[in-house]
Amino acid sequence: MPAIILDGNKIAAEIRAEIASEVKAMTAAGLRPGLAVVLVGHNPASEIYVRSKVRSSGEVGIYSEQHTPAETASTAQLLDLIADLNRRDEIDGILVQLPLPSQVDSKQILMAVDPAKDVDGFHPMNVGFLSTQRPGLVPCTPAGIIAILKRSNIPISGREAVVVGRSEIVGKPVAMLLINANATVTVCHSKTHDLPAVCRRADILVAAIGRAGMITREYVKPGATVIDVGVNKVTDRAEFERLFAGNAKREETFRAKGAVLVGDVHPEVAEVAGAITPVPGGVGPLTVAMLLSNTVRAAKLRRGTPELLKSL
Ligand code: NAP
Repeated sequence: MPAIILDGNKIAAEIRAEIASEVKAMTAAGLRPGLAVVLVGHNPASEIYVRSKVRSSGEVGIYSEQHTPAETASTAQLLDLIADLNRRDEIDGILVQLPLPSQVDSKQILMAVDPAKDVDGFHPMNVGFLSTQRPGLVPCTPAGIIAILKRSNIPISGREAVVVGRSEIVGKPVAMLLINANATVTVCHSKTHDLPAVCRRADILVAAIGRAGMITREYVKPGATVIDVGVNKVTDRAEFERLFAGNAKREETFRAKGAVLVGDVHPEVAEVAGAITPVPGGVGPLTVAMLLSNTVRAAKLRRGTPELLKSL
């Protein structure tokens, strides 16, 4: 039986609708959440991401503003901007779009963001809150993965979860969230021995690797839930054939655009898995939805009334 497709667009739309009604009520009570996005220079991919984040904020009623320092901006100039945003009470979330130009000390910039406004959840203070289960801000993509599982009624507690990838932005935080939700978690990486055998233990398999279609059917226990975080662009015809031979829709896209997007999971896995996230349209839409959710959460944690804090 083919896997159930976990529709990220649908789940993200549900979350955005909930956020919109919450923001409406908060705004009426004089507490409109605010997000500041910092985009340095002109990285085309970053410009697309930032546009989508700013547009999505507006759609749910969150106040947002964009700061666009020049490509040549120095670390000191950006630190001044962050300090100003940290001071402003109406700004609840500060998002610094990565990557920053090479002359900028990215770590210093991210450390300068007030942890209470760190809607990306990358500040060591929030990493510590997550690992000690204190209220804080959780990185968006990992939080989105948990939202997909919970809203699809996929049990986590007591299940075996395997995470492939140990990055600070996806692998490690999603592993921590799964532990906090009482899964038994194994984290794999490029030095893991016999990766297919380890992955086959998983009831929930999370692939956050950055390698097109690496997870083939031999990695997957029949019936497992597979969460595909990877976003990879395939431009090579032979690679395209390995992944999508016989798929007329993808063939059309490949011919028209010379490229297709594929996750870290090979499409054949849909024949073995119990449930699977598609790429595109799986984890990706949740990442933006959780940024909005984090902005609302940051507003409540920092400026909320006791009633609002209860709703966290
Ligand atoms: P990353 O920082 O490059 O980390 C990749 C991880 O995969 C590393 O831990 C690496 O192991 C491991 N890995 C690489 N090759 C491997 C192999 N052959 N076998 C086992 N493990 C291997 O990547 P990331 O930032 O976590 O992103 C992962 C993917 O998710 C990318 O495709 C990215 O574009 C995508 N992504 C999507 C979203 C979204 O919203 N949908 C958000 C973030 C990221 P080592 O640690 O040993 O090097």
